[in-house]
Amino acid sequence: MTKSEKIESIKKGKPFRLTDIFFLAGLAAAVLALCWWVYWSPPAYPVQGVEVRQNGKLVERPYAFPKPDEEPLEIPLQGLTLVIESGACYVKKGSSTCPDHACERMGKITRPNQKIVCIPNGIVIRLVGESNFISIG
Ligand SMILES: [Zn+2]
Repeated sequence: MTKSEKIESIKKGKPFRLTDIFFLAGLAAAVLALCWWVYWSPPAYPVQGVEVRQNGKLVERPYAFPKPDEEPLEIPLQGLTLVIESGACYVKKGSSTCPDHACERMGKITRPNQKIVCIPNGIVIRLVGESNFISIG
């Protein structure tokens, strides 16, 4: 086979072989499985409630999550409104009085020891429950 014949045979060949496609599909499945495990799998340690501190003081006993078929709880705090739905909590959009609305942009928290912090209002919202992570602060 001459050099130009080799080039021609490569040009005529299929860009992907069937084994390449299987390999890529397997790789994509592995990446998706890892993402699911990291982000969407149910937490191994269930959350027991939501603890709210304002200026270091506990506002009230930890709030319990509503059941999946119940309405989300809206809890007005000093400076923002906390929404607690089944398995997650977040700061209601447009409710906070802080200048940068960073606490609203923190989104939903779902796992033990995750926190939403609003520094201007001195509010720390934390999910309580057993965790395999060490809580700092
Ligand atoms: Zn805030």
